Amino acid sequence: MHEFKYRNNQLYCENVLVGRLAKTFGTPLYIYSYHTLIDHYLKLKSAFSKINPLICYSVKANSNLSILKALIAKGAGLDIVSGGELFRAQKAACPAGKIVYASVGKTDKEIFAAISKGILFFNVESLAELKNINRIARGLNKITRVAIRINPDVEAKTHKYISTGKLTNKFGIDLDSAYKILLLRTKFRNLNICGLHIHIGSQITQSAPFVEAIKKVSNFIQRLKVKGIVLEYLNIGGGLGIIYDHEAPQTAQLYADEIIPLLKKTGLKIIMEPGRFIVGNAGILVVKVLYIKHTPKKKFIIVDGGMNDLIRPALYCAYHNIWPLVKNAKVEKADVVGPICESGDFLAKERLMAKVKEGDYLAVMSTGAYGFSMSSNYNSRPRAAEVMVAKDKVLVIRKRESCEDLIRNEII
Ligand SMILES: *Cc1c(COP(=O)(O)O)cnc(C)c1O
Repeated sequence: MHEFKYRNNQLYCENVLVGRLAKTFGTPLYIYSYHTLIDHYLKLKSAFSKINPLICYSVKANSNLSILKALIAKGAGLDIVSGGELFRAQKAACPAGKIVYASVGKTDKEIFAAISKGILFFNVESLAELKNINRIARGLNKITRVAIRINPDVEAKTHKYISTGKLTNKFGIDLDSAYKILLLRTKFRNLNICGLHIHIGSQITQSAPFVEAIKKVSNFIQRLKVKGIVLEYLNIGGGLGIIYDHEAPQTAQLYADEIIPLLKKTGLKIIMEPGRFIVGNAGILVVKVLYIKHTPKKKFIIVDGGMNDLIRPALYCAYHNIWPLVKNAKVEKADVVGPICESGDFLAKERLMAKVKEGDYLAVMSTGAYGFSMSSNYNSRPRAAEVMVAKDKVLVIRKRESCEDLIRNEII
């Protein structure tokens, strides 16, 4: 469910006409619905109220400070994957004790900064990293908390680029190696190994892979208990799928009903790291039709937003609905493409969609997650503006970049 709806055949975001925003702020333009964002966060929170987990929103899904602040104000923590995201977390005034940090390639500088700030814990992805965090903590004369990211070797049933829980993926530590590390935990004098972490992938629409992964770690936790190793946290990651097209993903409630009994049995404090589920359907990308082009084989709708603004179609062959801002009963089949010099620069292929003409606007739906945050300046295109709508209120939360921004750090 989201707050992008037609009234009298015109598309609105909450109480604001999307066409008005496109004209006022120009295109390509990201538009977010504040209430859709918060509703999704609260849906998850209430589904899991029985166990009251710390919900650490995954910053990489959409890292705009206003989005972070809105969620932090509702009690969310943050899941970060870089020093840059740590910086954003601080700018958004996230309490350090609500920040968890995963990544297979944390640098010394990033580790140093995160320990100094006193984050809740690192999700550690290798033995080498564990040793390095221990060394840096020793230098700071601190004991730092870490969770071991387990690679549970389960099939997440999603696109292979966003599957992270198989032993062929670079993420996490296999159970046998993790067991050995935990038996030797007192050797790491500056670490408090206080938890386990899993994150098996993204856009997962069925609960079976989550259940399988959680069962594996639960058994592992039992095995550790027998050895007298008692942990405090279980971080179950993110990955909940959303509706882009005709998917029927598990709802937050269904997901909760399936896994709460398993989580309760562990006796540990639960952390989760949803990104897409919270912000995915809370955003759209509005683009303008520049040209209609007919070739002997195809009809192309050329728009002013491309793969630099939204890379998901090119990168994952992702499907996004494309809606006209003014409803139109006439349909046609076309490719919607951007201005970038790449054949991979498309937003939709062979799509049966509302007939449009030059100058019309289109809304690329469900682009709140991994939309702007994955955008780039490729083809020297300034990045889009972002606006947030709450009922009748409109706030620019990121200005459109200028050509000056493109060359800001360049030296001749
Ligand atoms: C990307 C990521 C998430 C969020 O994934 P979603 O599919 O957006 O929920 C959570 N945890 C980690 C470690 C991640 O890398």
